Amino acid sequence: MIPAAKPIIGDEEREAVDRVLRSGMLAQGPEVKAFEEEFSVHVGGRHCVAMNSGTSALHLGFIAAGIKAGDEVIVPSFSFAATANSVVLAGGVPVFADIDPQTFNLDPDHVESLITKKTKAIMPVHLYGHIAAMDRFEEMSSKYGVKIIEDAAQGHLASMNGRNAGEFGVVASFSFYPTKNMTAGEGGMVVTDSAEVARTLRLLRNQGQEIRYQNEIIGFNTRMTDIHAAIGRVQLAKLPGWTKTRQENAAYLDANLEGVVVPYLQPGTTHSYHQYTIRIPGGSAEKRDAFMAAITAKGVGCGVYYPTPIHRLPSFNLNLNLKETELVIKECVSLPVHPSLSQDDLKTIVSVVNEVAASL
Ligand SMILES: *Cc1c(COP(=O)(O)O)cnc(C)c1O
Repeated sequence: MIPAAKPIIGDEEREAVDRVLRSGMLAQGPEVKAFEEEFSVHVGGRHCVAMNSGTSALHLGFIAAGIKAGDEVIVPSFSFAATANSVVLAGGVPVFADIDPQTFNLDPDHVESLITKKTKAIMPVHLYGHIAAMDRFEEMSSKYGVKIIEDAAQGHLASMNGRNAGEFGVVASFSFYPTKNMTAGEGGMVVTDSAEVARTLRLLRNQGQEIRYQNEIIGFNTRMTDIHAAIGRVQLAKLPGWTKTRQENAAYLDANLEGVVVPYLQPGTTHSYHQYTIRIPGGSAEKRDAFMAAITAKGVGCGVYYPTPIHRLPSFNLNLNLKETELVIKECVSLPVHPSLSQDDLKTIVSVVNEVAASL
């Protein structure tokens, strides 16, 4: 079976963890600081503040960016629930916009039509590693005075016109969950170009204190441990090479798959292929599910990200008309693209997918 995703853990990660365990300093310390500095290199030298998860990074990112009770934040419904949950956790109100079915990302025209006096921010998600329409959102940000807050949980090293994910928003949040393009076990990183926002984030993650027992504000404990940071540092060093392999794997699939819609690549952008997501045309979830069952039976793992739009989850239960979101949810399926695929695996994926797609 070729798995849909596979975290790669080597001897270097094990040695790094052992080094921290032997040091006796386990909580946030020098490894976290070094991880933040090393991550900063990939986001234009911006301030980086590590957290215990991508969700904490999003949640505290909203608070530090000044999102308050009743503020509206425009988000895609075609994403992981944490995208919208973090708005609510910060006291805001998520307003769900439709997607561009080609990029799977927020449709800028629909976003613009949803901007009201209450809109404080737009949160694009760089879904599957394809950067969102950041040029359009930057225009809207200056025109309407709304903030850009990036959910870059899947966006490591995705870029547009030479700028990486994380270099656009007031704050941007990354995730290091095991299935992401790099992992720390669990973890997240908030990126910001503001020293003041960075300081607020450091206070928020550590009980509101910079100096012990001198709590300045009400805070959380969302610190990353040095154990996790040590894993993250090793993985970060490997990330550029892994991303290149993902892009090569995707290029092979693009060139050889038939009978399915392969991922779109917007000119001027680099895709980091967190997922390689194809569409089974026809607007039928039954047809897509039959395709998935058939390729799984032939040894090719796959997944649907995400089977239910966030607004229809029981936690939100909203009745909205997001046409493209509803269509893509029935047609999308993600194939393996991870860096541990062999040439034989890639050939198998192509022959199995093409055979099954032709028989549908
Ligand atoms: C993974 C993910 C998150 C949450 O990150 P965690 O580290 O799992 O908390 C948020 N948004 C998106 C789009 C994600 O893929």
